Amino acid sequence: MYPSRFRYEAPRSLDEAIATLRDGGDYAKVLAGGQSLVPLMKLRFASPELVVDINNVPGLDYHRADPDGTLRIGALCRHADLERSVLLKAAQPTMAAAAPVIADPIVRTRGTLVGSLCHADPQGDWASVVLALGGSVVAQGPRGRRTIPMAGFVTGPFENVLEPDEVAVEAVIPPATGTRAGGYLKLERRVGDFATVGVAVALDISGGTVTSAGIALTGVGGSTIAATDAARALAGQPLTAQSIEMAAGLAAEAARPRTDHRGSADYKRHMVHTFVTRILRRAGGSGVDGTGVAGTAERAA
Ligand SMILES: Cc1cc2nc3c(=O)[nH]c(=O)nc-3n(C[C@H](O)[C@H](O)[C@H](O)COP(=O)(O)OP(=O)(O)OC[C@H]3O[C@@H](n4cnc5c(N)ncnc54)[C@H](O)[C@@H]3O)c2cc1C
Repeated sequence: MYPSRFRYEAPRSLDEAIATLRDGGDYAKVLAGGQSLVPLMKLRFASPELVVDINNVPGLDYHRADPDGTLRIGALCRHADLERSVLLKAAQPTMAAAAPVIADPIVRTRGTLVGSLCHADPQGDWASVVLALGGSVVAQGPRGRRTIPMAGFVTGPFENVLEPDEVAVEAVIPPATGTRAGGYLKLERRVGDFATVGVAVALDISGGTVTSAGIALTGVGGSTIAATDAARALAGQPLTAQSIEMAAGLAAEAARPRTDHRGSADYKRHMVHTFVTRILRRAGGSGVDGTGVAGTAERAA
């Protein structure tokens, strides 16, 4: 199928992009990597009258750390840039684990992390990762810039809090309060598929104690789920068999899976328990490697 007719604009600055979006009102869409928007338009699940392609806007393709360790990922930073990133491998194990399991190499070459957050697919992997890390999205519109915590960014499946004339310019990950550890595990039917179950765990560990913890779940509910009780069970504790079992049980309880062609609800809940346990055991058991990072990455099919 072909998309409905639409107007295409490719502004050369952020201000121009915002002004163009404002003219387009509710019927305009930003195009970043196009890996979700274009398929939706071809199926006519989305029929914007105006597409504002931001790929010609300079200076949005970065990912970098501030001196205090805050990580910033620009709106045109591709999944593949993050997959290859030395910075993530050195300091952000949950992100480094997730980057290679997003879709397939072709999608990763064009698709963006910020676009994935904006798309708000309950099966999107980055939303869980950014949620577990306590990250946020910075939006820019005619009224200036604002920072929106990831926990309040998504309002439902494929919906977010952005105004129609706002562009999400970057995602921000706060600095570690200790050594950053964690991982992302994903169950998929075949390589390149969306998650049947995905689990993101992000920990900061100092002096053997978890100083900060985040756990978020992909694909096991109507939207990305923050397993806050599970994370709370870890904060302020050393990683022990008991605290790991407690967190895994609470995370499984937080899941809201449905039985479908990918598996039964019980099976998916069980996988949440297994993945949380596996990531935490590895973070606790391997401790921290020579790079100051303990990470876990794995695909399961
Ligand atoms: C075959 C296939 C397999 C995939 N598998 C996975 C997978 O396993 N895991 C996964 O997480 N994803 C998967 N995806 C989705 C992929 O990760 C997309 O890249 C991502 O969801 C959207 O990023 P994008 O840059 O391509 O956004 P686009 O497609 O350009 O945009 C998506 C939506 O976000 C909005 N948007 C994008 N950027 C901005 C911005 N800066 N400001 C405001 N709004 C914005 C657009 O208007 C649109 O509504 C898959 C896609 C395909 C085609």
